[in-house]
Amino acid sequence: MPIFDVVVVGAGVIGLTSALRLQEAGAQVALVAADPPAETVSAVAAAVWYPTRTDPDPRVLAWAGETYDELARQAAAGVPGVAMRPTRMIVRPSDDPWWSRVVPDYEDHGREWRFSVPTVEMVPYLEWLLARLADGGTVLERRRLRGLAEAAELAPVVVNATGLAAGELCADPAVFPARGRIVLVANRGIETSVRAEHHADGMVYVHPRSRDVVLGGTFEPGEWDTGPDPQAARAIVARCVDVVPELAGAPVLGERAGLRPVRRGGARVGEDPERLPGGARLIHNYGHGGAGVTLSWGCAASVLVDFGP
Ligand SMILES: Cc1cc2nc3c(=O)[nH]c(=O)nc-3n(C[C@H](O)[C@H](O)[C@H](O)COP(=O)(O)OP(=O)(O)OC[C@H]3O[C@@H](n4cnc5c(N)ncnc54)[C@H](O)[C@@H]3O)c2cc1C
Repeated sequence: MPIFDVVVVGAGVIGLTSALRLQEAGAQVALVAADPPAETVSAVAAAVWYPTRTDPDPRVLAWAGETYDELARQAAAGVPGVAMRPTRMIVRPSDDPWWSRVVPDYEDHGREWRFSVPTVEMVPYLEWLLARLADGGTVLERRRLRGLAEAAELAPVVVNATGLAAGELCADPAVFPARGRIVLVANRGIETSVRAEHHADGMVYVHPRSRDVVLGGTFEPGEWDTGPDPQAARAIVARCVDVVPELAGAPVLGERAGLRPVRRGGARVGEDPERLPGGARLIHNYGHGGAGVTLSWGCAASVLVDFGP
């Protein structure tokens, strides 16, 4: 007989936030993941609130708004790694700030939008989420499942938060990777985030953190290789310096690459009409692409509603 009410598969930001909301609601939660939080795509994220490459869908706006509010509360409460940052975003006249309704201080300055958003340093933040879960008795079990039916041996409800791997685990052909590369440089006093998604040489974002600055980036659909690429890294630095000249000469601390779990048609969040073999219910929460951090708490709330009272 299962001793848990629900098993969450996946320990990236989507799995951990879902597990925490379920635990807070009183469920006995099992947490199973192949990779620990520090080795997930979530740990690579620049992790700035922004609904990157998502469609203007009311569900997405609701998830994004709920996450904005939660992260802003966490920043005010001093949660490790979470801080509010002023942002300048260089835009084209045709760009549509469809998400701005949930950003309280959004201002349109013509070719530039200005607003404040939560930013997250993911490694300490994921550790904090894991510690909150452990405080409530939920401990991560490291195990790579061959199929979601294996998880159903632990509980009558399975939450699928396996990111890119969900494509294979659920035979969902809409899931594909979009590789993102970033470069980390020393922070010598930069305080404001800058975004210029339509820079002539490629996407630009500059996100200061406590000790470093994240320079990005790339969005490369269908690319699976996350090995280093010095040429791509140099190109990222050059276009970021073009937009933020104060970055010139900043010591490079490292480069990272991760595979965003994109899903054509948007994230799949909700209960599967089909049950797993053996009868367990299956609730999906995957396919958040370049916006997993931005949508995390809103999607976790949606999982809790599907889980039921
Ligand atoms: C360079 C870069 C920058 C980004 N910047 C931002 C940003 O600024 N803002 C933002 O909102 N988002 C950003 N993202 C996107 C964000 O990182 C993702 O949307 C998010 O991390 C997805 O989280 P996840 O929990 O679904 O997946 P993951 O973090 O990949 O976690 C998946 C989990 O599932 C587990 N798993 C998979 N298969 C199995 C199996 N068979 N058995 C057991 N466990 C399994 C894994 O081990 C892992 O624990 C960025 C991504 C990249 C790469």
